[in-house]
Amino acid sequence: VIRIEGLSTRFGDVVVHDNLSMDVRAGEIIALVGGSGSGKTTLLRQVLGLERPSAGTVKVFGIDVHHADPATLQQMRNRWGMLFQHGALFSALSAFDNVAQPMRELRVLPEALVRDAALLKLQMVDIPPEQALRMPADLSGGMVKRVALARALALEPELLFLDEPTAGLDPALSESFVRLIAMLHREMNLTVIMVTHDLDTLLALATRIAVLADKRLIAYGEAEEVVRVDHPFITEYFLGERG
Ligand code: ATP
Repeated sequence: VIRIEGLSTRFGDVVVHDNLSMDVRAGEIIALVGGSGSGKTTLLRQVLGLERPSAGTVKVFGIDVHHADPATLQQMRNRWGMLFQHGALFSALSAFDNVAQPMRELRVLPEALVRDAALLKLQMVDIPPEQALRMPADLSGGMVKRVALARALALEPELLFLDEPTAGLDPALSESFVRLIAMLHREMNLTVIMVTHDLDTLLALATRIAVLADKRLIAYGEAEEVVRVDHPFITEYFLGERG
């Protein structure tokens, strides 16, 4: 589904990624972890075509995102859902309109059907119809996250990008949000790439873990393989927290 080959990213003199390669298979949930500033968000942005590599390629469904013409890239992005940490919802739109907006913008459905489709998406994330007209400011943090997820899923994406999905949620909310992601992943045949710091989220969801350190992918595989890699970041991240 995604193939990254020999990717290097440089901002001026700062090298963020040096010759990094990885692939993502259909249906996987990939967790990207690494220390602060290790280039996780930048790697997501590279896959989304928002950042240019200084070398290497990123192909999504066989198409090079950095060399696709703008119309093709836009069409591809319409099949991707994104949930970013900040600015996930339009504050001037109700929960319902936040989810309906991408459907309206791309005219995927006649307006008469948008209503049902948006309410259905909200229901999938446990927002009942009677709460659909509430404004983001009147929703709890957990509800905002769920509405943002419903919005990310509005166009039935094949790929879902999550940046710190459980950041800012308390442990109980975080756990229920993780369960929701797992359920939607199964039901919607999603391939997911998420950046996360949270070890519980990662262990609950990830099919494979990609560890970024020293500008490279120092480990990529299932949790059992990754913890065996001898690197200070891995020791601290996987074993340090757990004692
Ligand atoms: P965090 O966990 O702190 O969010 P991260 O692993 O997501 O970190 P990135 O945000 O990808 O790290 O940043 C990697 C490095 O690239 C950092 O040193 C950052 O300062 C730098 N960087 C990111 N974007 C730019 C940019 N547009 N211009 C210059 N430097 C940038």
